[in-house]
Amino acid sequence: MTHASPLRVGYGTGMDGAGLKPGATFRESGRQLQEKDGQMDFALTDQQELVRATARQFMETELRPRLRQYEKEEHFPAEEIRKLGEMGFCGMLVPEEWGGAGADTVSYVLMLEEVARVDASTAVTLSVTNSVVAGPLLAHGTGEQKKRWLPRLARGEMLGAFSLTEPAAGSDAAGIEARAERHGDEYVLNGTKSWVTNGGEAGLYIVFAKTDPAAGRKGVSAFLIEPSAPGFRVARHEDKMGLRISRSVELALENCEVPANQLLGGEGEGLKIALAGLDSGRLGIAAQSVGVAQGAMEMAARYAKQRRAFGQAIAEFQAIQWKLADMQTEIDAARMLVWQGAAMRDAGVKKLGRYASEAKLYASEMANRVVYHAVQIHGSSGYSRECEIERLYRDARVLTIYEGTSEIQRMVIARELLGAGFGRSA
Ligand SMILES: Cc1cc2nc3c(=O)[nH]c(=O)nc-3n(C[C@H](O)[C@H](O)[C@H](O)COP(=O)(O)OP(=O)(O)OC[C@H]3O[C@@H](n4cnc5c(N)ncnc54)[C@H](O)[C@@H]3O)c2cc1C
Repeated sequence: MTHASPLRVGYGTGMDGAGLKPGATFRESGRQLQEKDGQMDFALTDQQELVRATARQFMETELRPRLRQYEKEEHFPAEEIRKLGEMGFCGMLVPEEWGGAGADTVSYVLMLEEVARVDASTAVTLSVTNSVVAGPLLAHGTGEQKKRWLPRLARGEMLGAFSLTEPAAGSDAAGIEARAERHGDEYVLNGTKSWVTNGGEAGLYIVFAKTDPAAGRKGVSAFLIEPSAPGFRVARHEDKMGLRISRSVELALENCEVPANQLLGGEGEGLKIALAGLDSGRLGIAAQSVGVAQGAMEMAARYAKQRRAFGQAIAEFQAIQWKLADMQTEIDAARMLVWQGAAMRDAGVKKLGRYASEAKLYASEMANRVVYHAVQIHGSSGYSRECEIERLYRDARVLTIYEGTSEIQRMVIARELLGAGFGRSA
């Protein structure tokens, strides 16, 4: 097998001989849910299957054996992420000319699902760098900005971070207080950013700050900042309930100096850029949710076949069987919403908001129901720190919170159903 840039395929999958060229790259590669003679086609292309198999194989062999130790030590899996980057998984939606994999969105969500099936922390690391950093840079960056950062991001040589949330403003993104003042040919930023995923590990941060506080939503601008910028500091690490091997930090911007040519898009376009990035970001979190739920269901099914009570495996009890059946049915329903959103993005649909929100809302809440039942099937073992399902239970909780809470997703969906006069943008 060759390890060709930009996307290495067939990682130990045994698929190299399946008529697929080893080392082939993933271009626009067909779509799901395509209308063909009035029929819906749910089949994945060979390339999409290969992305899925490659991600699964990597996560099972390279990360799963080390996860328990990493979790105990809160060790950020930099080495594994570097390898995932070499495989093209840090820049999946970035065209090959910019060093990316040039893959379709369906392949992207398949990759994230498979990563999250084993480890939700690694999935959010990849989701952020792909969806809300490389994506906006590709869409809104100048040629110069793309040249400087995009290939390195796309190849996973550096990670990206997205810094919108502040201690006093999360859902209400227009309420951020960070300020950016123009002084000659630079901006000076002051403020605090919280819950920055990949913070402390990233080589590039998209930071949102107000250039015109009087303009409300239209006064927010986006800046591309390297951690070496004067006045830029990681102030502290969050001590989280779950996702213990991902990084979440608070950033302090203290007279942080940023050259004017590191403004992303125009002044006042920050919120538009952030919200557009969140469309594919939310599909990513929805895919992460499906992966977490699938992993939990598989653990519960395995345990149910082993654990005996009243003289038989608990899997013999109809109560357990029905739980598992309901869990898988909900997972598949969520997966279809994720694939629908991804296929629509690949088909060039511009207004993805409602579909990304539906996928994120349903999949994240579904994942929490599924992990709840998975712990229940494990009984007391599921409550032990020694048992893997306990990690998934903690990891799942954030899915309904970040990249827009469930309440905010419902606002986005309802606004589209009812018209712009009802409910504000989120
Ligand atoms: C692990 C983790 C990683 C994160 N990573 C990032 C990151 O990389 N970058 C980043 O910028 N942010 C990140 N976040 C922040 C995350 O996006 C916010 O936490 C989220 O948007 C919610 O904001 P908040 O926590 O301030 O809650 P709040 O906005 O204070 O909301 C509190 C509650 O009120 C509800 N609420 C608020 N407004 C309304 C309304 N209008 N109608 C009904 N209910 C409402 C909310 O749904 C929620 O239930 C991360 C958070 C976590 C936990």
